[in-house]
Amino acid sequence: MKINGVKGMNDILPAQVGRWQEIERMAREVFALHGYREVRTPVVEPYALYARGVGETTDIVNKEMYVFEDKGEDKLALRPEGTAGTVRAYIEHGAHVEGPQKWFYIGPMFRRERPQKGRYRQFHQIGVEAFGIAEPAIDVEQIAMLADLFRRLGVAPVVHVNSVGDAACRPAYLEELRGWLRARGEVLCADCRERTEKNPLRVLDCKVPSCQPVLAEAPRLLERLCDGCRTHFDAVRQGLDDLSVPYQVNPRLVRGLDYYVRTAYEFTSDALGSQSAVAGGGRYDGLVETLGGPPTPGIGFGMGEERLALMLEAAGRPVPESRPAVFFVSADEAGRREGLQRATELRRAGIACDLDARGGKLARQFKQAERVGARYALVLGANEAASGQAKLKDMVTREETPVALADLASRLGTGPA
Ligand code: ATP
Ligand code: MG
Repeated sequence: MKINGVKGMNDILPAQVGRWQEIERMAREVFALHGYREVRTPVVEPYALYARGVGETTDIVNKEMYVFEDKGEDKLALRPEGTAGTVRAYIEHGAHVEGPQKWFYIGPMFRRERPQKGRYRQFHQIGVEAFGIAEPAIDVEQIAMLADLFRRLGVAPVVHVNSVGDAACRPAYLEELRGWLRARGEVLCADCRERTEKNPLRVLDCKVPSCQPVLAEAPRLLERLCDGCRTHFDAVRQGLDDLSVPYQVNPRLVRGLDYYVRTAYEFTSDALGSQSAVAGGGRYDGLVETLGGPPTPGIGFGMGEERLALMLEAAGRPVPESRPAVFFVSADEAGRREGLQRATELRRAGIACDLDARGGKLARQFKQAERVGARYALVLGANEAASGQAKLKDMVTREETPVALADLASRLGTGPA
């Protein structure tokens, strides 16, 4: 009986994986340039971590999380996002004593959503967290870093920034917003009405078309920020201007998670259709304390790798593939042995090469050489093995050039052709 994979959880096959490797390699490079170090945390955490750290009124915890009991003992969850687990690790290992920390993670996340383009049940996030820095300079650095990563990959999603206030200015605004929304309940969707009571800020985030003209008129937190939040937001804008990072102020941008304060930001792209956000981030100054650590400011983002891959595809960026420099074709048993020896030598010298371990008909071996994209083919038989001389055949021009087998490594240089 054939068993298929789980709905919404994808295989990334060898023909596509080069895209992922490129994204991850680039991310690691850019993060290292900015002093972010990698952390790897489990994909399973206590359910309570997300209930407290993400918030029980969020869709993520409420509707989307995979929760299970570990043989009737602990209530556990597959991680739906990376921040809570990273913060847990930060606290558990007392990382705060060393001063500010910049960490990043790359890995699978799980949300039980309706699968569609750019939205899956297992997906991958690349995210960063900067702990211990309350100053807006880190917000600026982080947003500019992400913009740089996108630029290197040849895409330019739009940067949206906003301030979601803090404990000084948000509560009064939420009451004002709630009253305003209640008065318009009958023209808003059912979700909006429910969120008006539970989490009114999230109403601003509603994607239902008929709600848009109404919500466009909603009171704006950006016009009601306390002095501290106003100064912070102005400094973020100034910093982005200084670094020539283009951005749009979007007063309706809120993050789906409860713990965000002040800076909220998002990168969106038309290439993603209705799933327009490729990355979302923001400041979460209260989160470390909420999860039992010392008061510690923090700011981070999570980026969806699948969505970034879709953007690169839409931009026509080819999937990078590593190809062998040379493919050894064996004419007989002596040639086969010689080929394996020469291949081993080249590989030790750091030159990618391949051979058809099945041996057999020359035509089939050449076909295999073509299929793997080899730059050259080299036929080896008893004569070549004895003389140490062979012909390097260019797979594109079909031209043949004599080569001494001893010189192969220097002829092919280092690395794949
Ligand atoms: P959305 O509004 O699209 O549901 P979100 O606000 O739930 O996004 P975040 O929790 O901020 O998303 O996660 C950060 C990023 O992770 C998103 O910008 C997106 O690129 C990616 N992401 C989130 N959920 C999924 C999913 N189910 N499948 C693929 N990527 C996802
Ligand atoms: Mg979501």
